[in-house]
Amino acid sequence: MNNKINAVFEDNLKEVLIKLKLLDPINNGEIVCRVCGDVISLETIGCMFPLDDEVQFCCDKILCIQKIIELQSTIRQIAKERIKNE
Ligand SMILES: [Zn+2]
Repeated sequence: MNNKINAVFEDNLKEVLIKLKLLDPINNGEIVCRVCGDVISLETIGCMFPLDDEVQFCCDKILCIQKIIELQSTIRQIAKERIKNE
C-alpha cells in the first residue's frame, strides 16, 4: 500500500469511526481483535468488517488479517450459494 492511500485511509477511518460512535470505545481500550483478542488502538486497526449486524475489528497482525479474509470469503461464498438456491 503506498503512502498516499495510507493517509487517505487513516483520515477516512477516523471519520467512519466517529460516525459509528466507535472512536471513544477504541480510545478507551474497549475494542478487541475478533481473532486474537488483543485490545485494538487506532494504530493497530488492521481491518473492520460487519458480522452479526455489528462492526468487528481485527488487529494489524498478518495472521489475524489473513483469518478475516478467509472468514469474509467464506461469508461471501455462503451468500452466493444462497442467492443461487433462491
Ligand atoms: Zn489480532
